[in-house]
Amino acid sequence: MAGNRGVVYTGNGKVEIQDISYPDLVLREGPGVPKSNVGRKCEHGVILKNIVTNICGSDQHMVRGRTTAPSGLVLGHEITGEVIEVGRDVEFIKKGDIVSVPFNVACGRCKMCKRQDTHICQNVNPERPGAAYGYVDMGGWVGGQSEYVMVPYADFQLLSFPDKDLAMDKILDLTMLSDIFPTGYHGAISAGVTTGSTVYVAGAGPVGLAAAHSAQLLGAAVVIVGDLKEERLAQARSFGCETINLKEHHDPGELIEQILGVPEVDCAIDAVGFEAYGHGTDNEEQPAIVLNTMMDVVEAGGKMGIPGLYVTEDPGASDKDAKQGSLKVRFGLGWSKAHHFVTGQTPVMQYHRQLMMAIMNGKADIAKAVNATVISLDEAPQGYNEFDSGVSKKFVIDPHGMLNR
Ligand code: NAD
Ligand code: ZN
Ligand code: ZN
Repeated sequence: MAGNRGVVYTGNGKVEIQDISYPDLVLREGPGVPKSNVGRKCEHGVILKNIVTNICGSDQHMVRGRTTAPSGLVLGHEITGEVIEVGRDVEFIKKGDIVSVPFNVACGRCKMCKRQDTHICQNVNPERPGAAYGYVDMGGWVGGQSEYVMVPYADFQLLSFPDKDLAMDKILDLTMLSDIFPTGYHGAISAGVTTGSTVYVAGAGPVGLAAAHSAQLLGAAVVIVGDLKEERLAQARSFGCETINLKEHHDPGELIEQILGVPEVDCAIDAVGFEAYGHGTDNEEQPAIVLNTMMDVVEAGGKMGIPGLYVTEDPGASDKDAKQGSLKVRFGLGWSKAHHFVTGQTPVMQYHRQLMMAIMNGKADIAKAVNATVISLDEAPQGYNEFDSGVSKKFVIDPHGMLNR
């Protein structure tokens, strides 16, 4: 049988490339697999040879020791690959297809999946609604920062690219369909972005940049991106966003006023999450600052998309309440302004086909917006370090050396 290698989390701040099991159509015992998910048969699944698989800010929360992820977890939820084996119950996906895997594992049969809420599927994780590959508390599905991976419920979940040659030409754009492009787009849709909107995007990491590009695709008049990292703000300016540097200024409203003439925007997107830093040079974590800033700067009646991740347990939090995910959110302000909040993981399947069409027809430039940067599997640990240092790059792992670089 063929071997397999993958990126494994080995404790606070560390990932290693290790030999891991070659996948078969069963969820086997392993780190983070809930007992009642062990031995689960997946004849509805496929085995993929991974063509590209990306490093995400969500992985960094685990690697930085800010979750209860177990050592030995194989990481990776952003997967695009070629189908090399199909299970007995797969009818329509074929060997040789090149497919994008939504990062949410979803059954297609439950109440939530039937209403397209695949991010809170009821049948894939015995511990809570929703599951993902290679992620803490997400059902134990083995991650795909590896050479080969198993994907269950293949007919329901996989997005097959219609033209394989074009798919390989556009693979650096298409690889963003497994997570960050739908996530940024979902942030913009849930914030109500439309033609002529003014939008504040907190965070200029890959998700913030994807949200900014999505807001532009939806016709926003002005997209203002805020971060504390100048290199990332420069990336946002490279495709037409306005930016505000929150390391140099405490008051985003003032800076928004300089750009728009008023201190408020129509809507906002949180692409930061709980590991948020205070504005100015204090450099202290303030987990609620993005939520409170958005309530300040979004006009009354406005909506907020909140793809930034918030956790139920944060062992690295500085105060006791935040260790359980209780934050100092000024909810009264949002209530008095009649704000709308949309939280949670992204239901990727609601968006990935349309965004694929936008990419295939030259209407979206997501790889350029997020500065997609290809590395080998062996370079992944270095990629994690560099990404953590705040470079403005979205690292795309090419585990079989299939891309021309
Ligand atoms: P990232 O860590 O690369 O980017 C976060 C950025 O936020 C950094 O550039 C950081 O400097 C900036 N930042 C910190 N404090 C800030 C503040 N107060 N105001 C503005 N910017 C601030 O991560 P990413 O890959 O871009 O992901 C962003 C978030 O989205 C993460 O929390 C990630 O887990 C989450 N995410 C959620 C989903 C989902 O389904 N909801 C999917 C993917 C990622
Ligand atoms: Zn991701
Ligand atoms: Zn389901």
